[in-house]
Amino acid sequence: MAKASEKAAPKRSRSEAESEKIRVALVERRDELQAEYDQSLTEITELQRERLADSAGDDQADTGTKTFEREQEITLANNLLERITQVERAIERLGEGNYGWCERCGNAIPVERLAAFPVATLCVSCKQLEERR
Ligand SMILES: [Zn+2]
Repeated sequence: MAKASEKAAPKRSRSEAESEKIRVALVERRDELQAEYDQSLTEITELQRERLADSAGDDQADTGTKTFEREQEITLANNLLERITQVERAIERLGEGNYGWCERCGNAIPVERLAAFPVATLCVSCKQLEERR
């Protein structure tokens, strides 16, 4: 299969207003994720504190549960951080004019889809084609 870059790329133009709309959606998404991440870090600190407090007592099972919860929370925080990075890269690419175009057909990916899936690289119809394969 020929790479998208080897094909004659359709003209990529998007109005300032549209770019701005995407930027706003991405920044909002980033802020949401950031808030979730901050919340998650607070939870981790709290669980860590509780765990240390419990370690002084005799309830081993409870300590184990809290260790597990904390590990889960750390995994969640790492996932959130990764998504924040992805959204920030998307904002950078948007600034360079390389964001929001379907890698397969070159059409603009709808703003709503980009806001929901900032890492989307295919438009809805191409995505459905990919999934059907
Ligand atoms: Zn497409």
